[in-house]
Amino acid sequence: MSENVEQVRCLIIGSGPAGYTAAIYAARADLKPVIYQGMQPGGQLTITTEVENFPGYPKGITGPEMMEEFKQQAERFGTEIRFGVVTEVDFSTHPFIVKADDGKTIAAETVIIATGASARWLGLESEKKLMGMGVSGCATCDGFFYRGQDVAIVGGGDTAAEEATYLAKLCRKVYMIHRRDELRASKAMQHKVLNTSNIEMVWNSVPEEVLGDDSGVTGVRVRDVKTGTSRDLSVTGFFVAIGHKPNTEIFEGQLELDDQHYVITKPGTTQTNVPGVFAAGDVQDHHYRQAITAAGTGCMAAIEAERFLAS
Ligand code: NDP
Repeated sequence: MSENVEQVRCLIIGSGPAGYTAAIYAARADLKPVIYQGMQPGGQLTITTEVENFPGYPKGITGPEMMEEFKQQAERFGTEIRFGVVTEVDFSTHPFIVKADDGKTIAAETVIIATGASARWLGLESEKKLMGMGVSGCATCDGFFYRGQDVAIVGGGDTAAEEATYLAKLCRKVYMIHRRDELRASKAMQHKVLNTSNIEMVWNSVPEEVLGDDSGVTGVRVRDVKTGTSRDLSVTGFFVAIGHKPNTEIFEGQLELDDQHYVITKPGTTQTNVPGVFAAGDVQDHHYRQAITAAGTGCMAAIEAERFLAS
Protein backbone atom coordinates (compact mmCIF):
# COMPACT_ATOMS: atom_id res chain seq x y z
CA MET A 1 0.00 0.00 0.00
CA SER A 2 1.28 3.48 -0.84
CA GLU A 3 3.20 5.34 1.89
CA ASN A 4 0.81 8.24 2.21
CA VAL A 5 -2.08 5.98 3.11
CA GLU A 6 -2.45 5.99 6.86
CA GLN A 7 -3.20 2.68 8.60
CA VAL A 8 -5.88 2.86 11.30
CA ARG A 9 -7.32 -0.05 13.29
CA CYS A 10 -10.57 1.66 14.25
CA LEU A 11 -11.90 4.73 12.48
CA ILE A 12 -14.90 6.49 14.00
CA ILE A 13 -16.93 8.90 11.90
CA GLY A 14 -18.95 11.40 13.95
CA SER A 15 -18.61 12.94 17.39
CA GLY A 16 -21.97 12.78 19.17
CA PRO A 17 -22.60 10.53 22.18
CA ALA A 18 -22.34 7.41 19.96
CA GLY A 19 -19.00 8.37 18.40
CA TYR A 20 -17.33 9.46 21.64
CA THR A 21 -18.58 6.44 23.60
CA ALA A 22 -17.28 4.15 20.86
CA ALA A 23 -13.97 6.03 21.11
CA ILE A 24 -13.74 5.60 24.91
CA TYR A 25 -14.28 1.84 24.62
CA ALA A 26 -12.07 1.40 21.55
CA ALA A 27 -9.23 3.42 23.12
CA ARG A 28 -9.39 1.43 26.34
CA ALA A 29 -9.25 -1.76 24.24
CA ASP A 30 -6.03 -0.40 22.70
CA LEU A 31 -7.47 -0.04 19.20
CA LYS A 32 -5.93 3.46 18.94
CA PRO A 33 -9.09 4.95 17.46
CA VAL A 34 -9.11 7.98 15.22
CA ILE A 35 -12.28 10.03 15.20
CA TYR A 36 -13.37 12.53 12.57
CA GLN A 37 -15.67 14.99 14.28
CA GLY A 38 -17.75 15.90 11.24
CA MET A 39 -19.64 19.05 10.35
CA GLN A 40 -21.05 19.63 13.81
CA PRO A 41 -18.46 18.61 16.43
CA GLY A 42 -20.34 17.21 19.43
CA GLY A 43 -23.43 16.48 17.34
CA GLN A 44 -27.04 17.47 17.88
CA LEU A 45 -26.61 17.97 21.64
CA THR A 46 -24.55 21.05 20.97
CA ILE A 47 -27.70 22.83 19.82
CA THR A 48 -29.78 21.93 22.86
CA THR A 49 -29.67 23.74 26.15
CA GLU A 50 -29.99 21.78 29.38
CA VAL A 51 -29.71 17.97 29.44
CA GLU A 52 -31.51 16.59 32.48
CA ASN A 53 -32.17 12.99 31.48
CA PHE A 54 -28.64 11.65 31.06
CA PRO A 55 -27.82 9.51 34.12
CA GLY A 56 -24.85 10.72 36.13
CA TYR A 57 -25.70 14.41 35.94
CA PRO A 58 -28.14 14.84 38.84
CA LYS A 59 -28.08 18.61 38.54
CA GLY A 60 -28.31 18.59 34.73
CA ILE A 61 -25.68 19.88 32.33
CA THR A 62 -25.76 21.88 29.12
CA GLY A 63 -25.47 19.89 25.88
CA PRO A 64 -22.19 21.56 24.79
CA GLU A 65 -20.61 21.01 28.23
CA MET A 66 -21.63 17.38 28.26
CA MET A 67 -20.13 16.78 24.84
CA GLU A 68 -16.89 18.49 25.93
CA GLU A 69 -16.71 16.01 28.82
CA PHE A 70 -17.32 13.07 26.47
CA LYS A 71 -14.51 14.39 24.28
CA GLN A 72 -12.07 14.77 27.17
CA GLN A 73 -12.86 11.25 28.36
CA ALA A 74 -12.19 9.87 24.86
CA GLU A 75 -8.91 11.83 24.68
CA ARG A 76 -7.80 10.65 28.09
CA PHE A 77 -7.44 7.10 26.79
CA GLY A 78 -5.59 8.12 23.66
CA THR A 79 -8.26 8.72 21.00
CA GLU A 80 -6.95 10.91 18.23
CA ILE A 81 -9.63 13.49 17.56
CA ARG A 82 -9.56 15.27 14.23
CA PHE A 83 -11.49 18.32 13.18
CA GLY A 84 -12.64 17.31 9.73
CA VAL A 85 -15.23 15.65 7.57
CA VAL A 86 -15.04 12.26 5.89
CA THR A 87 -15.88 12.82 2.25
CA GLU A 88 -15.62 9.38 0.65
CA VAL A 89 -15.60 5.72 1.67
CA ASP A 90 -14.87 2.52 -0.19
CA PHE A 91 -16.15 -0.51 1.69
CA SER A 92 -15.66 -2.89 -1.26
CA THR A 93 -12.07 -3.69 -0.23
CA HIS A 94 -10.51 -4.51 3.12
CA PRO A 95 -8.94 -2.56 4.78
CA PHE A 96 -11.61 0.01 3.96
CA ILE A 97 -10.44 3.14 2.16
CA VAL A 98 -11.65 6.41 3.63
CA LYS A 99 -10.87 9.95 2.47
CA ALA A 100 -11.29 13.09 4.56
CA ASP A 101 -11.33 16.80 3.80
CA ASP A 102 -7.95 17.26 5.55
CA GLY A 103 -6.41 15.52 2.52
CA LYS A 104 -5.78 12.24 4.33
CA THR A 105 -6.44 8.81 2.88
CA ILE A 106 -6.92 6.12 5.50
CA ALA A 107 -6.89 2.35 5.30
CA ALA A 108 -9.16 1.35 8.18
CA GLU A 109 -9.49 -2.19 9.50
CA THR A 110 -12.80 -1.32 11.15
CA VAL A 111 -15.13 1.65 10.73
CA ILE A 112 -17.75 2.83 13.21
CA ILE A 113 -20.33 5.09 11.63
CA ALA A 114 -21.79 7.54 14.13
CA THR A 115 -22.73 10.40 11.83
CA GLY A 116 -26.16 10.87 13.42
CA ALA A 117 -29.21 12.47 11.94
CA SER A 118 -30.14 16.09 11.49
CA ALA A 119 -33.52 17.45 12.46
CA ARG A 120 -35.36 19.08 9.60
CA TRP A 121 -36.19 22.70 10.26
CA LEU A 122 -38.74 25.01 8.68
CA GLY A 123 -36.02 27.39 7.51
CA LEU A 124 -37.47 30.54 9.05
CA GLU A 125 -35.04 33.27 10.11
CA SER A 126 -36.89 33.67 13.44
CA GLU A 127 -36.69 29.91 14.07
CA LYS A 128 -32.90 30.07 13.76
CA LYS A 129 -32.64 33.18 15.91
CA LEU A 130 -34.65 31.68 18.78
CA MET A 131 -33.07 28.21 18.64
CA GLY A 132 -32.42 27.08 22.21
CA MET A 133 -34.44 30.06 23.49
CA GLY A 134 -37.81 28.38 23.13
CA VAL A 135 -37.35 26.77 19.72
CA SER A 136 -36.53 23.08 20.04
CA GLY A 137 -36.31 19.98 17.87
CA CYS A 138 -36.87 17.55 20.73
CA ALA A 139 -39.82 17.52 23.12
CA THR A 140 -38.45 14.64 25.19
CA CYS A 141 -35.30 16.69 25.80
CA ASP A 142 -36.78 20.13 26.37
CA GLY A 143 -40.49 19.70 27.18
CA PHE A 144 -39.85 19.71 30.91
CA PHE A 145 -38.81 23.39 30.80
CA TYR A 146 -42.33 24.36 29.69
CA ARG A 147 -44.31 22.73 32.49
CA GLY A 148 -47.65 24.43 32.99
CA GLN A 149 -47.13 26.68 29.96
CA ASP A 150 -48.66 26.87 26.49
CA VAL A 151 -46.57 25.49 23.62
CA ALA A 152 -46.89 24.71 19.92
CA ILE A 153 -45.59 21.82 17.86
CA VAL A 154 -45.42 21.66 14.10
CA GLY A 155 -45.73 18.43 12.10
CA GLY A 156 -48.29 15.73 11.44
CA GLY A 157 -46.24 12.51 11.56
CA ASP A 158 -45.71 9.96 14.33
CA THR A 159 -42.93 12.01 15.93
CA ALA A 160 -45.07 15.14 16.14
CA ALA A 161 -48.02 13.09 17.45
CA GLU A 162 -45.90 11.31 20.04
CA GLU A 163 -44.24 14.54 21.15
CA ALA A 164 -47.57 16.40 21.28
CA THR A 165 -49.01 13.79 23.66
CA TYR A 166 -45.82 13.89 25.73
CA LEU A 167 -46.02 17.69 25.93
CA ALA A 168 -49.74 17.53 26.79
CA LYS A 169 -48.86 15.73 30.02
CA LEU A 170 -46.55 18.55 31.08
CA CYS A 171 -48.00 21.67 29.53
CA ARG A 172 -51.27 23.53 29.98
CA LYS A 173 -52.04 23.62 26.28
CA VAL A 174 -50.44 22.25 23.12
CA TYR A 175 -51.23 23.67 19.69
CA MET A 176 -50.43 21.10 17.01
CA ILE A 177 -49.88 22.92 13.73
CA HIS A 178 -50.22 20.84 10.59
CA ARG A 179 -50.15 21.94 6.96
CA ARG A 180 -52.99 19.61 5.90
CA ASP A 181 -56.34 18.56 7.35
CA GLU A 182 -55.28 14.98 7.97
CA LEU A 183 -52.43 13.61 10.05
CA ARG A 184 -49.75 11.40 8.54
CA ALA A 185 -49.28 9.65 11.91
CA SER A 186 -50.50 6.08 12.48
CA LYS A 187 -54.19 5.67 13.32
CA ALA A 188 -53.39 4.77 16.92
CA MET A 189 -51.34 7.95 17.39
CA GLN A 190 -53.99 10.04 15.62
CA HIS A 191 -56.58 8.68 18.00
CA LYS A 192 -54.43 9.59 21.00
CA VAL A 193 -53.81 13.14 19.78
CA LEU A 194 -57.42 13.82 18.83
CA ASN A 195 -58.64 12.53 22.18
CA THR A 196 -56.29 14.54 24.35
CA SER A 197 -58.30 17.45 25.65
CA ASN A 198 -55.46 19.97 25.94
CA ILE A 199 -54.16 19.43 22.39
CA GLU A 200 -55.74 21.86 19.95
CA MET A 201 -55.29 21.04 16.29
CA VAL A 202 -54.41 23.96 14.03
CA TRP A 203 -55.25 22.42 10.65
CA ASN A 204 -54.19 23.60 7.20
CA SER A 205 -51.69 25.95 8.73
CA VAL A 206 -48.01 26.76 8.47
CA PRO A 207 -45.86 28.81 10.82
CA GLU A 208 -44.88 32.10 9.21
CA GLU A 209 -42.79 33.49 12.01
CA VAL A 210 -41.72 32.55 15.52
CA LEU A 211 -42.33 35.57 17.70
CA GLY A 212 -39.97 36.42 20.52
CA ASP A 213 -37.75 38.86 22.33
CA ASP A 214 -34.64 38.73 24.53
CA SER A 215 -36.49 36.49 26.99
CA GLY A 216 -37.21 33.89 24.29
CA VAL A 217 -40.26 32.72 22.37
CA THR A 218 -43.51 34.59 23.02
CA GLY A 219 -45.67 33.22 20.23
CA VAL A 220 -46.00 31.93 16.72
CA ARG A 221 -47.71 33.51 13.71
CA VAL A 222 -49.53 30.88 11.65
CA ARG A 223 -51.08 31.25 8.24
CA ASP A 224 -54.12 29.28 7.20
CA VAL A 225 -53.16 27.98 3.75
CA LYS A 226 -56.83 27.70 2.69
CA THR A 227 -57.96 31.20 3.62
CA GLY A 228 -54.61 33.01 3.56
CA THR A 229 -55.33 34.64 6.91
CA SER A 230 -52.78 34.80 9.70
CA ARG A 231 -53.15 34.74 13.46
CA ASP A 232 -50.83 34.73 16.46
CA LEU A 233 -50.78 31.94 19.03
CA SER A 234 -49.37 32.89 22.40
CA VAL A 235 -46.79 30.22 23.38
CA THR A 236 -43.46 30.09 25.18
CA GLY A 237 -42.18 26.92 23.51
CA PHE A 238 -42.10 26.07 19.82
CA PHE A 239 -41.27 22.48 18.85
CA VAL A 240 -40.42 21.45 15.32
CA ALA A 241 -41.13 17.79 14.50
CA ILE A 242 -41.15 17.63 10.72
CA GLY A 243 -38.77 14.70 10.41
CA HIS A 244 -35.10 13.87 10.58
CA LYS A 245 -32.57 13.17 7.90
CA PRO A 246 -29.87 10.59 8.63
CA ASN A 247 -26.40 11.72 7.62
CA THR A 248 -25.71 8.87 5.23
CA GLU A 249 -25.05 10.53 1.84
CA ILE A 250 -21.49 9.19 1.64
CA PHE A 251 -22.65 5.62 2.37
CA GLU A 252 -25.16 5.43 -0.47
CA GLY A 253 -24.26 2.43 -2.62
CA GLN A 254 -21.71 1.21 -0.03
CA LEU A 255 -24.03 -0.07 2.69
CA GLU A 256 -27.60 -1.31 2.97
CA LEU A 257 -29.82 1.62 3.91
CA ASP A 258 -33.57 1.49 4.58
CA ASP A 259 -36.15 3.41 2.55
CA GLN A 260 -35.57 6.48 4.74
CA HIS A 261 -31.81 6.17 4.21
CA TYR A 262 -30.97 5.01 7.76
CA VAL A 263 -28.19 2.41 8.01
CA ILE A 264 -29.63 -1.07 8.51
CA THR A 265 -28.03 -3.00 11.36
CA LYS A 266 -28.55 -6.62 12.28
CA PRO A 267 -31.13 -6.65 15.12
CA GLY A 268 -29.52 -6.56 18.56
CA THR A 269 -26.11 -5.60 17.13
CA THR A 270 -24.43 -2.65 15.42
CA GLN A 271 -23.28 -4.78 12.46
CA THR A 272 -24.02 -3.47 8.99
CA ASN A 273 -24.14 -5.70 5.93
CA VAL A 274 -20.37 -5.17 5.50
CA PRO A 275 -18.33 -7.16 8.07
CA GLY A 276 -16.07 -4.73 9.94
CA VAL A 277 -18.34 -1.72 9.42
CA PHE A 278 -20.57 -0.88 12.39
CA ALA A 279 -23.19 1.81 12.90
CA ALA A 280 -24.22 3.40 16.18
CA GLY A 281 -26.54 6.16 17.34
CA ASP A 282 -29.17 8.06 15.39
CA VAL A 283 -27.74 7.12 11.99
CA GLN A 284 -29.27 3.67 12.54
CA ASP A 285 -32.09 4.58 14.94
CA HIS A 286 -35.11 6.68 14.06
CA HIS A 287 -37.07 5.40 16.99
CA TYR A 288 -35.44 6.28 20.32
CA ARG A 289 -33.02 9.06 19.27
CA GLN A 290 -31.72 9.69 22.79
CA ALA A 291 -28.17 10.51 23.90
CA ILE A 292 -28.18 7.55 26.26
CA THR A 293 -29.30 5.05 23.62
CA ALA A 294 -26.74 6.48 21.18
CA ALA A 295 -24.03 6.08 23.82
CA GLY A 296 -25.19 2.50 24.45
CA THR A 297 -24.91 1.53 20.79
CA GLY A 298 -21.54 3.34 20.58
CA CYS A 299 -20.28 1.02 23.31
CA MET A 300 -21.69 -2.01 21.45
CA ALA A 301 -19.99 -0.93 18.20
CA ALA A 302 -16.56 -0.65 19.87
CA ILE A 303 -16.89 -4.06 21.51
CA GLU A 304 -17.98 -5.58 18.20
CA ALA A 305 -15.08 -3.89 16.38
CA GLU A 306 -12.65 -5.29 18.95
CA ARG A 307 -14.08 -8.81 18.49
CA PHE A 308 -13.95 -8.46 14.70
CA LEU A 309 -10.25 -7.53 14.88
CA ALA A 310 -9.52 -10.37 17.27
CA SER A 311 -11.11 -12.89 14.93
P1 NDP B 1 -42.58 12.04 8.91
O1 NDP B 1 -41.80 12.28 7.67
O2 NDP B 1 -43.40 10.81 9.02
O3 NDP B 1 -43.58 13.26 9.15
C1 NDP B 1 -43.16 14.57 8.97
C2 NDP B 1 -44.36 15.48 9.17
O4 NDP B 1 -43.92 16.82 9.06
C3 NDP B 1 -45.45 15.27 8.12
O5 NDP B 1 -46.71 15.35 8.72
C4 NDP B 1 -45.23 16.42 7.15
O6 NDP B 1 -46.41 16.90 6.57
C5 NDP B 1 -44.66 17.49 8.04
N1 NDP B 1 -43.74 18.37 7.32
C6 NDP B 1 -42.66 18.03 6.60
N2 NDP B 1 -42.05 19.13 6.12
C7 NDP B 1 -42.77 20.19 6.55
C8 NDP B 1 -42.66 21.58 6.39
N3 NDP B 1 -41.64 22.12 5.70
N4 NDP B 1 -43.59 22.37 6.96
C9 NDP B 1 -44.60 21.85 7.68
N5 NDP B 1 -44.77 20.53 7.89
C10 NDP B 1 -43.86 19.72 7.32
O7 NDP B 1 -41.50 12.17 10.10
P2 NDP B 1 -41.56 11.62 11.60
O8 NDP B 1 -40.33 12.12 12.26
O9 NDP B 1 -42.86 11.93 12.23
O10 NDP B 1 -41.44 10.04 11.46
C11 NDP B 1 -40.35 9.44 10.77
C12 NDP B 1 -40.55 7.93 10.72
O11 NDP B 1 -40.40 7.38 12.02
C13 NDP B 1 -41.94 7.54 10.23
O12 NDP B 1 -41.85 6.37 9.48
C14 NDP B 1 -42.70 7.28 11.51
O13 NDP B 1 -43.79 6.39 11.35
C15 NDP B 1 -41.58 6.68 12.38
N6 NDP B 1 -41.88 6.91 13.80
C16 NDP B 1 -42.52 5.92 14.48
C17 NDP B 1 -42.84 6.08 15.80
C18 NDP B 1 -43.53 4.99 16.50
O14 NDP B 1 -43.85 4.00 15.88
N7 NDP B 1 -43.80 5.12 17.79
C19 NDP B 1 -42.50 7.30 16.55
C20 NDP B 1 -41.84 8.29 15.73
C21 NDP B 1 -41.55 8.08 14.41
P3 NDP B 1 -47.23 16.04 5.50
O15 NDP B 1 -47.93 14.99 6.28
O16 NDP B 1 -48.16 17.04 4.89
O17 NDP B 1 -46.22 15.50 4.53
